[in-house]
Amino acid sequence: MKYYSPDSLDAYFKLRSKLAGKDVAVLAGGTDLMPRYERGLSMPDHLIDLKSLSKLSSILVSDDYIEIGALTSIQDLHDHAVIQAEFTAIHQAAHEFAGTQIRHRATTGGNLCNASPAGDLLPGLYAFEAILELTNADGQRTLPISDFILGPGKTALSDGELLTAIRIPRDHWDSKFIKVGLRQSMAISVINIALVYHHLEASFTHLKIATGAVAPTVITLDEFCQAYQLNPSNLLQHIQLIDNAISPIDDIRATANYRRTVLKNLIRDFLTNG
Ligand SMILES: Cc1cc2nc3c(=O)[nH]c(=O)nc-3n(C[C@H](O)[C@H](O)[C@H](O)COP(=O)(O)OP(=O)(O)OC[C@H]3O[C@@H](n4cnc5c(N)ncnc54)[C@H](O)[C@@H]3O)c2cc1C
Repeated sequence: MKYYSPDSLDAYFKLRSKLAGKDVAVLAGGTDLMPRYERGLSMPDHLIDLKSLSKLSSILVSDDYIEIGALTSIQDLHDHAVIQAEFTAIHQAAHEFAGTQIRHRATTGGNLCNASPAGDLLPGLYAFEAILELTNADGQRTLPISDFILGPGKTALSDGELLTAIRIPRDHWDSKFIKVGLRQSMAISVINIALVYHHLEASFTHLKIATGAVAPTVITLDEFCQAYQLNPSNLLQHIQLIDNAISPIDDIRATANYRRTVLKNLIRDFLTNG
């Protein structure tokens, strides 16, 4: 296997074009990829480490949005003042993510490109309606996160294309992240939920809920949120809309029925008790 570490996007795309048609893999923090190789996936002929693309590790703040470089570590995301102040659900997801060593190594972009239905950053990014910037040798395109993740482990990235940045509008919503795991830390989510909202007196003027590990991709519960906002007194009736939207499975961590029950209870509890 040959290892490469380009230090600019230009150098990366030149290398990709030289390696066209070859067996190439891209490495960010390696916390998803390396365990796969240890479990028996064959190593690629060419491994391109992105970590020297230092421009992709910064977080930029403008009046309208925050732009998170794809190589930003989970720890840097967690520690950023604007994430802490305005994107509580993302800060909380980063806080509950793995342990210290993994948080320093794993990247925000890696969590997205891995496209696990249980990825902890995903519900917050869906609920805040993140827009992703993808770059290839010819330029850039943007996609809403819901069009980027196509299924477990599947994304809209084309061959050689990189996820370069994640933009989230600064709408100043309140938010909350809830993770249910089999233990308190270093646990894959049994389910996870992000709630992004704005309260005016007793009612929600904005409500967006995204949830993971209850369908092949993270999903947003839009029908439920609309029905609840229109008629909050019928909460128990609207809960059926959550059942209709999800399709959880039994696996080693939990049964489908457990996931359904816990999800509905947690949402009901949040909407009734805050
Ligand atoms: C012990 C342990 C605990 C964990 N705990 C959690 C947890 O609590 N919550 C959670 O959600 N996850 C957890 N994970 C999974 C993992 O840490 C995350 O998914 C992490 O964000 C992956 O990022 P990475 O940079 O390490 O990705 P990598 O392993 O480097 O890459 C993952 C995939 O994405 C591709 N890729 C990465 N970056 C880019 C890019 N910019 N453009 C195009 N393709 C790219 C790679 O080619 C690869 O296919 C854990 C993993 C371990 C080993």
